[in-house]
Amino acid sequence: MSQKRIALFGSTGSIGTQALDVIAANPDLFSAEVLTAQTNDTLLIKQALQFNPNIVVIGDEKKYPIVKEALAHTHTKVFAGEKALEEVASLDCYDMMLAAIVGYAGLKPTLCAIEIGKPIALANKETLVVAGDIIMRTAAEKRIPIIPVDSEHSAIFQCLVGEGRNRIEKIILTASGGPFLGKKPNFLVNVKKDHALQHPNWTMGAKITIDSATLMNKGLEMIEAKWLFNLTYDQVQVVVHPQSIIHSMVQFTDGSIKAQMGLPDMKLPIQYALAFPNRIHNDFPRYDFKKPGTLTFEEPDTKTFRNLALAMEAMKQGGNMPCILNAANEIAVYAFLRNRIGFLDMTEVVEQTMARIPFLPEPTLEEYFETDGEARNFAASLIHM
Ligand code: NDP
Ligand code: MG
Repeated sequence: MSQKRIALFGSTGSIGTQALDVIAANPDLFSAEVLTAQTNDTLLIKQALQFNPNIVVIGDEKKYPIVKEALAHTHTKVFAGEKALEEVASLDCYDMMLAAIVGYAGLKPTLCAIEIGKPIALANKETLVVAGDIIMRTAAEKRIPIIPVDSEHSAIFQCLVGEGRNRIEKIILTASGGPFLGKKPNFLVNVKKDHALQHPNWTMGAKITIDSATLMNKGLEMIEAKWLFNLTYDQVQVVVHPQSIIHSMVQFTDGSIKAQMGLPDMKLPIQYALAFPNRIHNDFPRYDFKKPGTLTFEEPDTKTFRNLALAMEAMKQGGNMPCILNAANEIAVYAFLRNRIGFLDMTEVVEQTMARIPFLPEPTLEEYFETDGEARNFAASLIHM
């Protein structure tokens, strides 16, 4: 394999830093060509000094002078602002983008990369939730792969290798159930941010950790799976598997089920996406079948965790409904993280926004952008932000 130049969008996040660990462990295979952050100038500078990228982008323009000065003695070019993310994504200076920005903000740079024909390692699931039809269509036109980084989707992707056109009967997305598995609304109503931020199996960014606690994450992942693997609503099933050892499964037309397993560690799907189609050696801990332990499975409680039911509804309706769901959810999660609303209020915000914003069955890209803006404004008005 020749050295692959990676443009790491969201390099200072949980996925971004773990991706840099993978790159650091495999300097012959990968280099960090582009690094981007939103506000964390300190970490971005540190990463740039270690990895010597061609370009860094800091989203927050106020931080530009700090980053520029710190890297003045290096050959790294420094840009700032939202537009710069798109412009840099459109440059033909890298081989693969790792899309690891969180939320809707990741959509435009990722689309720019697809439009110039760059393969994508996709962590940012919101991109597919908002505009999955346009993303997948454009990627197909440009003949570039979208390789999932999300552990469940990486598992499905791995199960499908070698299956050619064999028909998928359904996919079974596993869910850990999050920190509040088995809890009921009378408990959830009092949940505070610090508790919700403690995930039993994974250490992740704040937004996805809250989404995991509300099960919205699994709903977003159902929609993500629909687009990645060209599935219908009925072909995606969620099963709660609290140990997070089976990362997901595919059931084929003959009833045979393939699963991908391993200890929960995001470095594995990150490394798989960067190195695909190759598998490369690592020293990550291995799952040990000799150790006592049980793998269990149960139905998700969609009556308590209504966000999952709302996401399923949005997926069924299609059009701009998942975009509305996503925008309202981003507003609700950030309000919860600022202690502005309670845990169960997040669901109310999403539900009311879905009921209010006009439904469009076949939106254009521009209409997705408008929907996102309208849904955010309405959701924020419910919270009095
Ligand atoms: P983090 O919050 O840890 O990191 C987000 C990254 O995006 C940071 O580099 C951050 O910069 C940057 N960023 C934040 N806001 C903006 C913005 N408005 N514009 C540009 N850049 C921005 O998130 P995670 O790494 O946890 O998640 C990233 C994506 O990957 C999400 O979509 C998530 O759903 C998905 N994912 C994550 C998993 C995980 O284990 N963490 C697992 C599966 C999927 P700064 O540091 O400066 O704020
Ligand atoms: Mg996941």
